[in-house]
Amino acid sequence: MKRVVSGIRPTGKLHLGNYFGAVQSFLNMQSEYDCYFFIADIHSLTTHPTPEDLHANVRTVLAEYLAMGLDPAKCALFIQSDIPAIYELYTYLNMNAYVGELQRSTSFKEKIRSQPDNVNAGLLTYPVLMAVDILVHHADYVPVGKDQQQHLEMTRQFGNRFNNLYKTEYFKEPEAFSSTGKLVKVPGLTAQGKMSKSSGDADTIFIDEDDKVIHKKIMRAVTDSGPEKPGEKKSEGVQNLFDLMALVSSEDVIAHFDKAHSEATIRYGDLKKQLSEDILTFIRPIRERIREISADNAYIAQAAKIGAEKANASAEKTLKEVREIIGFKKFY
Ligand code: AMP
Repeated sequence: MKRVVSGIRPTGKLHLGNYFGAVQSFLNMQSEYDCYFFIADIHSLTTHPTPEDLHANVRTVLAEYLAMGLDPAKCALFIQSDIPAIYELYTYLNMNAYVGELQRSTSFKEKIRSQPDNVNAGLLTYPVLMAVDILVHHADYVPVGKDQQQHLEMTRQFGNRFNNLYKTEYFKEPEAFSSTGKLVKVPGLTAQGKMSKSSGDADTIFIDEDDKVIHKKIMRAVTDSGPEKPGEKKSEGVQNLFDLMALVSSEDVIAHFDKAHSEATIRYGDLKKQLSEDILTFIRPIRERIREISADNAYIAQAAKIGAEKANASAEKTLKEVREIIGFKKFY
């Protein structure tokens, strides 16, 4: 079975954008591939989280991914820092990653701009750590967005460079995973682009939020004063509401409001009420499950342990082989 490796940022509470943009494809992949999904807590240290936030965020994300249907029996869902081999392989791969190429990476340049007061060496070698995450499990595929293409290219380069240096064909080249479904971009509620954690509370529907809060946010979503005559194009805010409907509402409902818009008889209040109802119908069972799992320390512990065992089995094998290739030999 082909192997897929993908990281999850421990950014705390998940929102609808995360669900439809990432989690859903993970759910599809776990049945078809040998999947290694990890919560990238080592990577997150580049932004210096407090110990409390680090732990809480990892726990939240783990509980939420489990609640959404990632199944420890089907995939390896693990926490990056539970895999000691990662740190060691990171040391080795750093020896053949060149400072110049790391400085030229787009993500590093972006970080210099976005956090000029914290340009740490971990940011510079971030692509090396990413390469390790992928190479340590000999991934065939890595699901990547456009912004991650360069990292995957660097991963191939580091793997190939290791192979050339030691005259081996040990690491294979991972490929970008192109999912069969089209990529969804979930819009926010304030007509300012895609839904994201950083775009503000009014913009974002978190999965673990109460009915009232979600309803209020949707009722306040940005629209316009309504089409004046039949056939008018939808404004950005209105199109966004239709895009959200496409994710959670039935075809009949969407067709009904589409028709009302094109005939200029639409009432946005009705559209929002329906959207709110459909989003809540979608969210409620997941939210219940998140709350159940979050309260169940034993279940979380068990899931993390199973994931770590699977990932460690794969990573330790790689590390042992890499040490041999490099030429480390015990004297005792
Ligand atoms: P983040 O932690 O915000 O980087 O989100 C994690 C992943 O969720 C991203 O890599 C995307 O795959 C997905 N994602 C986040 N926001 C959206 C969105 N508005 N639309 C589609 N996918 C999203």
